[in-house]
Amino acid sequence: MSDFEKKSIIEFKDAIKPYTLERPEKKPKENYVSVLILRELKSAARFTTDGIEANSAVIRVGGIEETVGKLFGRKQVASDRRKAKALQRTLISNEMSRVIGNDGWKGCTMKVNEMCQRCPECALFGSAASEEGVSITSRVMYDETYTIRALSAIVDEFFQNAPGDDYSKEPTSAIREPDFFKEGTLFPCVVTLKDATAEEVLFFLNITDRNSRYGATGTRFGKTQNHILGIYASHREGPSSLEVAKEIALTLAKQGLDKKDPDYSKKVDERLKEVMYLDTLPTDEIKAIAIDAFESLSNKQRINYLKFSEIQSSNILEDIRDDQVVKSILVDQIAKIGTFLSA
Ligand SMILES: [Zn+2]
Repeated sequence: MSDFEKKSIIEFKDAIKPYTLERPEKKPKENYVSVLILRELKSAARFTTDGIEANSAVIRVGGIEETVGKLFGRKQVASDRRKAKALQRTLISNEMSRVIGNDGWKGCTMKVNEMCQRCPECALFGSAASEEGVSITSRVMYDETYTIRALSAIVDEFFQNAPGDDYSKEPTSAIREPDFFKEGTLFPCVVTLKDATAEEVLFFLNITDRNSRYGATGTRFGKTQNHILGIYASHREGPSSLEVAKEIALTLAKQGLDKKDPDYSKKVDERLKEVMYLDTLPTDEIKAIAIDAFESLSNKQRINYLKFSEIQSSNILEDIRDDQVVKSILVDQIAKIGTFLSA
């Protein structure tokens, strides 16, 4: 064990041991570590596929249907992977070169068929078949995340007037500019690590803590803060991001309503419309509601879990804020993935 190990990290590894593996294995087991995250936009962001329209989806919540904003799972993965690979280049280039030998390690890439398949990031996040025909299945599960509020409450559409030089102008001459998600937009989000080592859990937590860009690589618009609200370890997979987002909206809608009221469900639906069209949502209150939502959904789904609270999670993040600690975690992980990655 390295010199940088802090007491709390040792305690964390010990506590989470029944739900993690000593080293990665080729055959799947049933170990899940779900990280509950609230992604908060700190500046206006572009999450779009066609370059213009904000990504959205129609969801059903309570008795109503509403169009909400959407952040694709694959965009979150790609962004976290870029961050993880950049961090590895910064911290463990020498160590990786020593393991690989010969010409050394060139640093891993995002190019689909050219990933190194030797680094901790490839081992955890997976890679498509290489020239040798080996492929690694990702053990990090993301899903689409949705906003709590309706699309029209959180997206700004811009039109630029582009009048010609004619005296009479057509109203259709406005040019649509790309949609922006407004600052303050919240995306409740669950990411689950399956059959991971404790080192991989710590690596993922550190990446999530560092990452602040989830928009398209070309634009670089939009700063995101990831609030880690809890870590839940189990032998069953927890609720999805969409389930959590819906439960938060429902909880807000039910506040102050009387369940015994004969018009209760009608009133909940009316309140849902109001909640989803609010100008802002209070982040701290939503954090607490998101935690309750995740836990009550888990209970309804008969999932037993070991919980690390928001405070415990932030203590862990604090203990790995020093790059040398992250480096020592990655070096420990390098030693664990040798046989896993050999075909
Ligand atoms: Zn790699």
